[in-house]
Amino acid sequence: MSVTRVATRMRLFLFDVDGTLVSARGAGRAAMARALEAVYGTRAGIDGYDFRGKTDPRAVFDILRDAGFDDAAIAGRLDECFERYVLELEALVGDGARVEIMPGVADVVRALAARTDAIVGLLTGNIESGARVKLRHTGLWPLFRVGAFGSDDADRRRLPAIACARARGVAGVEVPFDRVVIIGDTPLDVDCARACGAVAVAVATGHHAATDLATCGSDLLFADLADVAAVLRALVTSTADCQAWPFGCQPANA
Ligand SMILES: [Mg+2]
Repeated sequence: MSVTRVATRMRLFLFDVDGTLVSARGAGRAAMARALEAVYGTRAGIDGYDFRGKTDPRAVFDILRDAGFDDAAIAGRLDECFERYVLELEALVGDGARVEIMPGVADVVRALAARTDAIVGLLTGNIESGARVKLRHTGLWPLFRVGAFGSDDADRRRLPAIACARARGVAGVEVPFDRVVIIGDTPLDVDCARACGAVAVAVATGHHAATDLATCGSDLLFADLADVAAVLRALVTSTADCQAWPFGCQPANA
């Protein structure tokens, strides 16, 4: 009986990486530029490309199509490009010195991960190996029990279903989309949540101001996650099952 009860209340919190958990201070763009130049012989167009909210494979295809490459030529060397990208990223941020963790993030993630009614994961446009490099020195990587990455699909909208399938594999429970909370710093993160019926949480710690994010229709909007207690309170009561509960959700391990 208790297993069923936990399963029906389980929620899945999915965090974006860049601009939400950390800033790599431009290292991703720099590493990608080096990789494109090494593998495809061009970095044309990357300096003006808007990476915000895009998956890594989408960025590569967008940039190289604009430079005149056809899809077959891009796809044929994509694995090689990402291998080089991770090597370059490792060289730039592998020691952690350049990676800035956003305010409150570590405490919020740790508190959610400690709950028995929550699974914490990643939903990011980063390829998995890139996300791992960026997060390595935060100490948070082991707390993310599931992840859906740019290396799983170039279309961010397809990533929530992948994360849910992995949550089912990890925890043995079905988490419906209305108990999934997607936290990100761009309109595309909000769009991704909206498209599947998840709770959309926007945080203005990336390159979008709160005033821009306010027009995207997120369920929650934070300037940052620094007020850990308030953020946790809002996050754990944000799902539809909690809103229908007159006294709000109580932490299962409180
Ligand atoms: Mg982001």
